[in-house]
Amino acid sequence: MNKQEYMDCEDKALLHTYNRFPLVLDHGEGVYLYDTDGKKYLDFAAGIAVEALGYSNEAYKQALKDQIDKITHTSNLYYNVPIMEAAEKFLKVSKMDRVFFTNSGAEAIEGAIKAAKKYAYTRDGHADHEIIAMNHSFHGRTLGALSVTGNAHYREPFEPLCGGVKFADFNDIESVKAQVTEKTCAIIFETVQGEGGIYPAEESFMKEISALCKEKDILLILDEIQCGMGRTGEMFAWQHYGIKPDIMTSAKALGCGVPVGAFAMTERVAEKSLAPGDHGTTYGGNPFVGAAVSKVMDLFEELKLTDHVKEIAVYLESELDKLVEEYDFITARRGMGLMQGLVSTKPVGTIAAEALKEGLIIITAGADVIRMVPPLVIEKEHVDEMITKLKNVLDCM
Ligand SMILES: *Cc1c(COP(=O)(O)O)cnc(C)c1O
Repeated sequence: MNKQEYMDCEDKALLHTYNRFPLVLDHGEGVYLYDTDGKKYLDFAAGIAVEALGYSNEAYKQALKDQIDKITHTSNLYYNVPIMEAAEKFLKVSKMDRVFFTNSGAEAIEGAIKAAKKYAYTRDGHADHEIIAMNHSFHGRTLGALSVTGNAHYREPFEPLCGGVKFADFNDIESVKAQVTEKTCAIIFETVQGEGGIYPAEESFMKEISALCKEKDILLILDEIQCGMGRTGEMFAWQHYGIKPDIMTSAKALGCGVPVGAFAMTERVAEKSLAPGDHGTTYGGNPFVGAAVSKVMDLFEELKLTDHVKEIAVYLESELDKLVEEYDFITARRGMGLMQGLVSTKPVGTIAAEALKEGLIIITAGADVIRMVPPLVIEKEHVDEMITKLKNVLDCM
């Protein structure tokens, strides 16, 4: 089959929920992807912040193959070794006390919401608690996650969603305070808003929210699904702020390509939260994903990825800032580490599509942001190559 035939075939079989770029990917090596025609692409999207190690990492592949040879699934009725190892490593880098593994980011959000509600229920002896979420947030597509997602377009067709959710403006403490009531049990937001347009939390906002939560025993839930796992130069983005969430979520790069997510919490929360019978999953935390997460954690340490991100991000930021200087339609750069956005007054969808022709994979965020979330293993030469290719595109806009 040729490329067009593959695309036609898929378009007929799959539910049309995605407008895909006309690209049929075949395999990857390092920070490059190859399509079925053998064309090479420099990847600055990493499967949406998933492939932190780049493609075809030998040690990672071997760990998965070894686990496949042993056992991939056991159910959660029994203990298994890989997930125990994964959990220990996750808790060590997250400084959380207890973790639950899920199959996706959205499910991690579902679990985090349930954990917060159960905590407040145990404490107060009644239900009917409220959650404050942020405008322009993104937490996933399941009904619970959608309930805390501040994007009317994603939510509207599916209403009524979970009740008791109030929205405030991100980085505006007064707007959050205005939504707090006696019933508020949790405040949830992304440490760096991703889909909404790459907005990092401001330090003062984070500190004030953290203080507010402590004062009123409101749980702070930080969504680290996109910005976590080393992407900002710390293992989790909240670690830049000198605060600690009560509950946090992870996914995307947690498994580097294997579907896995997690929600984790402090012991103080866990004591009053989900107990046997309150939550469960068939696949979540099976030996196969356990082996993947465990190996990912090892490789992050071995490759000193957070240090590498800190170093390479300085260079990426300075090169992107030059584009802001050079092109009048590129009006700003926002981001942290290897999670960067360029604000464009020209259509970002067209820029991303034209970049593909140049052999560069970039994505968009919000209505006007070019998003870059490359593998964390990129080097200076890849930044240079990206800039050259992107300039070719921008010059023709
Ligand atoms: C991607 C994402 C999710 C949802 O994760 P899925 O694995 O797609 O369910 C939730 N929150 C944030 C911040 C994300 O970027």
